[in-house]
Amino acid sequence: MGNREDKQKSIAEIARDACIGCEQCVGVCPVDAISMDAEDVAVVDADACTSCRKCVEICPTSAITMSEGEPAEAAVPEPAAEPAPAEAAAPPSEGPTPEVWVFVEHADGRPAAVSWELLGKGRQLAADLDGRVCSVLLGHQVDSLAREAFAHGADRVYLMDDAVLAHYRTQPYLHGVVDLVQKYRPAIMLLGATTTGRDLAGAVATRLGTGLTADCTGLSIDPQTKLLEQTRPAYGGNIMATILCEKQRPQMATVRPRVMDMPPRDDSREGEIVREELGLAEDDVLLRIVEYAREADTSAVRIEDASILVSGGRGLGGPDGFQMLAELANALGGAVSGSRAAVDQGWIEHPRQVGQTGKTVRPRLYIACGISGAIQHLVGMETSDVIVAINSDPNAPIFDVATYGIVGDVNEVVPALTRVVKTRLPDRGAPSE
Ligand SMILES: Cc1cc2nc3c(=O)[nH]c(=O)nc-3n(C[C@H](O)[C@H](O)[C@H](O)COP(=O)(O)OP(=O)(O)OC[C@H]3O[C@@H](n4cnc5c(N)ncnc54)[C@H](O)[C@@H]3O)c2cc1C
Repeated sequence: MGNREDKQKSIAEIARDACIGCEQCVGVCPVDAISMDAEDVAVVDADACTSCRKCVEICPTSAITMSEGEPAEAAVPEPAAEPAPAEAAAPPSEGPTPEVWVFVEHADGRPAAVSWELLGKGRQLAADLDGRVCSVLLGHQVDSLAREAFAHGADRVYLMDDAVLAHYRTQPYLHGVVDLVQKYRPAIMLLGATTTGRDLAGAVATRLGTGLTADCTGLSIDPQTKLLEQTRPAYGGNIMATILCEKQRPQMATVRPRVMDMPPRDDSREGEIVREELGLAEDDVLLRIVEYAREADTSAVRIEDASILVSGGRGLGGPDGFQMLAELANALGGAVSGSRAAVDQGWIEHPRQVGQTGKTVRPRLYIACGISGAIQHLVGMETSDVIVAINSDPNAPIFDVATYGIVGDVNEVVPALTRVVKTRLPDRGAPSE
């Protein structure tokens, strides 16, 4: 046999399990060698394939690889009569290990707790995908955060360490994250629904042309399709919608702090660090940080950090009702918060609002006083450890999520509770705000 017969053409091969039917390969193939079959999976016409690799580069799930062999230009066009021997054929391509990525947010070297909360959820999702959970860490001299990521469940950390990344700025972080996504092709990417996370997630999703579901309250994997089910309130919070991103990757979602459980920390865990270069110089960045100034008003309350919250709604009847709640909160060493109705009435300030357009809280104890339990309120507090509801209407929806319910008038129940707490827990009181 001559050389001609020994050579086999390299062709694009598609792992059916990994194909999500996005048709990007169909669009990019210059010789129309790829089409979709009846099951919406891409198939390659081996004879037409020119080994150009365009489909390999564009596939968002790395489902396409090139078989071993010569590039098409060097390959012999025929020989149909003498097919390559079976042992010379390339092995069937396998899909890559699916990865769930979690962006590690930090400022001044301090990580945002939501990054670790998302790693806990990421581990569950990765297990359901038979994949791994990875952290994406950009910054300067942040190796210690990689170790923390392992301790909170990451199997692998993609790390870009560069002085340009010392402080968050959209442009260099966008550049770095998009580069990493295009190189490693994660199935899912999660970010905290914080100021930074929201900014970056929107920019990355736009640049990659993929879907993004903001403020998810639930994330799971559909056992059949292996798609990420992203649940969040919709239509003003009147329904819970489950959103799928079927044809683009990664599937992106943001989640507010304290919505997911914090996973237990295990400092003995280890993992792999994959280091990558940013490839962007300071001169390429349009925004300069001249100075940081801390917010002057440090007295602003952070209800999201309180372990006990006494919360009031329209049922309090007026601003004086909040004086009554402050007394109970003082006796318990907690803080006061409220529903949107109370905020809209001007009875309490907006930074203390709990709910969809307020804060998400997760205290050990949440006492809801004269709050009906609208869905927009519940999404902000229903993961509290213990919920006590006080309401004069026995059918109020707040009782559906309450650990303990008291049917009665807040003006009678709250002062009685305060008296009991003061008597039984005299040392408990701490200044509440
Ligand atoms: C897009 C959108 C976003 C929203 N975001 C939020 C949000 O972030 N947070 C939020 O809270 N809401 C939000 N809302 C508003 C939400 O739908 C409800 O209107 C609001 O939560 C109701 O507040 P409330 O429970 O205090 O008042 P109401 O629903 O009027 O309930 C008052 C309750 O007090 C009880 N009551 C009355 N008198 C007494 C008494 N003397 N003793 C005991 N109980 C008494 C009543 O039985 C009733 O259950 C949002 C709405 C929309 C459309």
